[in-house]
Amino acid sequence: MKTSVIGFPRIGADRELKKASEAFFAGKATAEQLDAAARAIRAEAWRLQKEAGISLIPSGDFSFYDNMLDVAFALGAVPERYRALSLPPLETYFAMARGYQGPAGDVRALPMKKWFNTNYHYIVPELSDDTALKFDIAKWQDEYEEAKELGVETVPAVIGPYTFLRLARFTGSRTAADFADAAGAAFADFVHDMRLATDAARFSFAEPALVLDTSEDDLALLRRVYAPVLRAAHRTVGGERFARVALQTYFGDLRDSWSVVSKMGFDAIGMDFVEGRERNLALLADGSFPDDAELIAGVVCGKNIWRTNYLKTANELISQIVRHVPAERVALSPSCSLLHVPWTVESETKLPRDVLKWMAFAVEKLDEVRDLAYMHTGLNGVLGYDPWDANVKLFYNDRVEPDAEVRAAVAALAEGDFERVPAFAERERVQRARLALPKFPTTTIGSFPQTKDVRAARAALGRGEMSAADYESFVRGKIERCIRKQEEIGLDVLVHGEYERNDMVEYFGDNLDGFVFTEKAWVQSYGTRCVKPPIVWGDIRRKAPITVKWSAFAQSLTKKPVKGMLTGPVTILNWSFPREDLSLREQTLQIALAIRAEVLDLEKAGIGIVQIDEAALREKLPLRREDWRREYLDWAIPAFRLVHSGVKPETQIHTHMCYSEFNDIIRDIDAMDADVITFEASRADLKILDALKAAEFRTEVGPGVYDIHSPRVPSVDEIVAAVRKMMTKVDPAKLWINPDCGLKTRGEPETEASLRNLVAAARILRGE
Ligand code: GLN
Ligand code: ZN
Repeated sequence: MKTSVIGFPRIGADRELKKASEAFFAGKATAEQLDAAARAIRAEAWRLQKEAGISLIPSGDFSFYDNMLDVAFALGAVPERYRALSLPPLETYFAMARGYQGPAGDVRALPMKKWFNTNYHYIVPELSDDTALKFDIAKWQDEYEEAKELGVETVPAVIGPYTFLRLARFTGSRTAADFADAAGAAFADFVHDMRLATDAARFSFAEPALVLDTSEDDLALLRRVYAPVLRAAHRTVGGERFARVALQTYFGDLRDSWSVVSKMGFDAIGMDFVEGRERNLALLADGSFPDDAELIAGVVCGKNIWRTNYLKTANELISQIVRHVPAERVALSPSCSLLHVPWTVESETKLPRDVLKWMAFAVEKLDEVRDLAYMHTGLNGVLGYDPWDANVKLFYNDRVEPDAEVRAAVAALAEGDFERVPAFAERERVQRARLALPKFPTTTIGSFPQTKDVRAARAALGRGEMSAADYESFVRGKIERCIRKQEEIGLDVLVHGEYERNDMVEYFGDNLDGFVFTEKAWVQSYGTRCVKPPIVWGDIRRKAPITVKWSAFAQSLTKKPVKGMLTGPVTILNWSFPREDLSLREQTLQIALAIRAEVLDLEKAGIGIVQIDEAALREKLPLRREDWRREYLDWAIPAFRLVHSGVKPETQIHTHMCYSEFNDIIRDIDAMDADVITFEASRADLKILDALKAAEFRTEVGPGVYDIHSPRVPSVDEIVAAVRKMMTKVDPAKLWINPDCGLKTRGEPETEASLRNLVAAARILRGE
């Protein structure tokens, strides 16, 4: 049985690419030095894959920033404003990725969007009516040759034309369909040119967009873009097929495109049997897998960091696959690009062996794919094969002892635990009487600028150079200063500033039982930005109150209400690596119970307003609309309600989201049953407000009145105008005035100036 890899992380084992790119951006390294760093990373990735015995190793999966951008750039889809800078190619590429400000001009970056249901972000290609698509294969040719020189035969891999067009943005009157023939011809040239320029004869086209909801029009687009590609590949030259084309899908199943995909004549089809397991197996079961094609079967999870259970995978999954496609035609692979997991477990020096032995990052997953293929081939001979024995032994026992109390608490949850009483309208009345806030109450989202001294103090505490007592008094000093400043500015609902937090998820993970943290398990989020997600290891329990002392201290300093600040359970889970031995629902409920205890303790300590951030609620919405409710919202929304359902009617619950694209789940957002929700609206065109109105949204709202992602200070007039616009759509009595997200990344001077203008705007509006 063969093995295949879709893509390998390109940031490097120690984030070498990040470091080299940042040096290049800062003018401290040359393009040659950056290129050398990239070569070293690629060489290492190929070496590891070859050493692991992978049969189909990709090339071209590397990227200086993003693979969608690579394709756009290679196709010549470079908008005129970037061309006009007349920069060298690599710098033009980076200008599209990051924007450019310098002697050649001033342009903003292309927008970025989340890549399917991952935490990775891609650059959205922009096509205007006069964009001509023509494929320049240089990147793929170079990387193929580079691997070959290192003795590694590779399969050039590229994001395919269908996904490219479905995710692109069209600025003129031409649509994806209008570009279909041009894109098809360009990708046909890719096959043709690569085949002649190199000795590669097999190519892989990634089409993850096939796991999205797919309409008849989409299927027509798919047929049109691939007809020329397959025609170019399937010519007979010298009695042989000119080239072979693999269609690689991932992140889900092909439920609504299979009837077309299976008949198009691809030489290989890659399917995801982890995220798309049930439906993709069902598609094979009806015998429709093409007789002459190869199946690349994703059987090792490419998105999570746990070891694969060999016995289970072999007996319950691979055995089913080979019942429908003979093993000689099957290649095993990870379920998606390994880009979404860290490089290697070997870099971790602090976690105990007993924990690490359960983890598999990119390098380890190569071995897993190889072992599974090897085991299948030599099925009767695997006894005594060490990795197999070790794996079977590993899964022989449960990973961790369940926390009986936590399990019982989750099991005992009853419907009433998810319902807050009294109903919203009654609470609104009680809270208005208690809080006596002015019209258009002003507030912030929680964090204040994390200035150098804050980060330095935390680092010193971490290194043991600052005592816990000194750190504590340092943070208290910051809080006091922050409260005084907010009072002076004249805000109505104050915050303590979140100085004690490194990150809104990590901070809670750190203070809850059940999480573990790594040192170098970085995953690319976009470009040079990497994240190191906490890992859910065991059952989650709150050891002791987490935020209460900070909030209570802040409240003791002022007569104005201070909001308690918490991160919600869905966001904590969505920004972590979850367990695989317990359902997501159950893990979320465990976290919800922990945060619920914190909410109740805050209330007891005299905190009258508690904000529970759900910055990432939308992120794990399933890719198919028909799965939204059953697979996600049906438990995610109740989990949020569980967090706050125990508070008194007079305690006001806020929530915050970092985006405003929730038109399509607006009723679910209202069903979170918070009293106030703040969200990002300043960059969007306020379309969300129409949707709020149409849905008769009852939760009070604070659509951000200015963009905190830029240091720009909004003027009073601008804020007044923004709020006036909002007032035409939202009942003014329900309107809050606040920035669109936390102020953590901002500097103090612009923060203070912006908030002063915000308060001045509220005062003007109240006078009307
Ligand atoms: N309360 C958090 C803060 O202000 C919210 C951050 C976020 O939504 N990303 O930093
Ligand atoms: Zn936010």
